[in-house]
Amino acid sequence: MNYETLIIRYGEIALKGKNKKSFYDTLYDRVKEQLKGLSALTIKKHFDHIEVQLNGLDYRTVADRIKHVFGIQSIRAAIIVDNELTSLQEGSLKVVKDIEAEVKTFKISARRKNKKYPMNSKELNHALGSYVLQNTENITVDVHHPDVNIQVEVLEESTRIYGKVIKGAGGLPVGSAGKVMLMLSGGIDSPVAAYMMMKRGATIEAIHFHSPPYTNDRAKQKVIDLAATLKKFGGRLKLHVVPFTNAQIAIRDSMPDNYRMTIMRRMMLRIAERLAIKYDALAIATGESLGQVASQTLESMNTINEVTNFPVLRPLVSTDKVDIIDIAKKIGTYDISIRPYEDCCTLFLPRAPKTKPKREQANRFEKSLAIEALIEEALAGVETIDIGKEAEAIEDLL
Ligand code: ATP
Ligand code: MG
Repeated sequence: MNYETLIIRYGEIALKGKNKKSFYDTLYDRVKEQLKGLSALTIKKHFDHIEVQLNGLDYRTVADRIKHVFGIQSIRAAIIVDNELTSLQEGSLKVVKDIEAEVKTFKISARRKNKKYPMNSKELNHALGSYVLQNTENITVDVHHPDVNIQVEVLEESTRIYGKVIKGAGGLPVGSAGKVMLMLSGGIDSPVAAYMMMKRGATIEAIHFHSPPYTNDRAKQKVIDLAATLKKFGGRLKLHVVPFTNAQIAIRDSMPDNYRMTIMRRMMLRIAERLAIKYDALAIATGESLGQVASQTLESMNTINEVTNFPVLRPLVSTDKVDIIDIAKKIGTYDISIRPYEDCCTLFLPRAPKTKPKREQANRFEKSLAIEALIEEALAGVETIDIGKEAEAIEDLL
């Protein structure tokens, strides 16, 4: 069956006190963005919830688009009936029948916003509950621990009866926390890191280092596809593709084998910082997880981090690989990440990278590297791709 309206409720935003309005406005923008192109809908912003009137569209289609929007606690589908008792009874029955196969027990919770309504909540619970019981076979009432709580909200002119509940994505709306430059490789971890940052409200722009002809277009396409998948959590995003071949060649040819990886990372971070400054980001984020590989020991992080005083956020620092993989599967990036194209780092990796690199050593070696020139050259060749722009342009035409 279909419903008439979706009621979107927020979670943590409710705790924001004086700042609540700006968080809520941002959430509203994100919801509208995801529903762009569905012109049949009417979207209304109420004091404590957003309502999406479906006007005939399937609630599942609409809910599928917004269930990824951070800041949402729950999306509840409701039917709307007039305030006659018989309509409330029929409506409650209809909603219970829709979910009857999934539950064994139910309860009705009526609330009257219209205090002039001739029955109070208790009387309504009873009248509706017993009507549903008489007209169903496999379901009973449990007022304490029901499998489903059917909420009935009597408003001035009409009544909402809530059925299906879709769990929201939680977190805070993207755009409520400022911008982060996220280093996006083609691997499993960094897309998950992007998701985690967006979940806390950060707007992200992605940076990808690639090294043609050592890395090919399919490796780049993989990163574009990852970014496109991330778009459903936070709307359009930019991907800056940085040409990194010459920097890598210079590092390979003039830096000691066991420090190459450390120095390559330092170069990446320097370039990321420049892009962060250019595009007004306040932090850099990576998919690093403590101890996962040689470049992710504390010694490595310490030595690599030296080149920037921007915060380097590592949302996965304490997450196990198996758990990262679970999230990657859940958010739809895993299958893209495991496509077998090499990224720039694997190609130039030394046989035995130093697991405990020292700042002093790295600084000493780098004296013979044309750091500034290499950075300038890479920045001059950055290609910025606006992920999702074309898709949106097509939707606008529909
Ligand atoms: P991932 O799965 O994210 O690639 P990883 O376990 O392979 O991570 P590393 O290769 O050491 O680990 O990379 C650590 C982090 O450095 C990545 O999570 C990412 O944020 C960043 N990074 C690595 N390679 C690139 C790249 N080619 N472009 C942009 N960022 C990169
Ligand atoms: Mg990697």
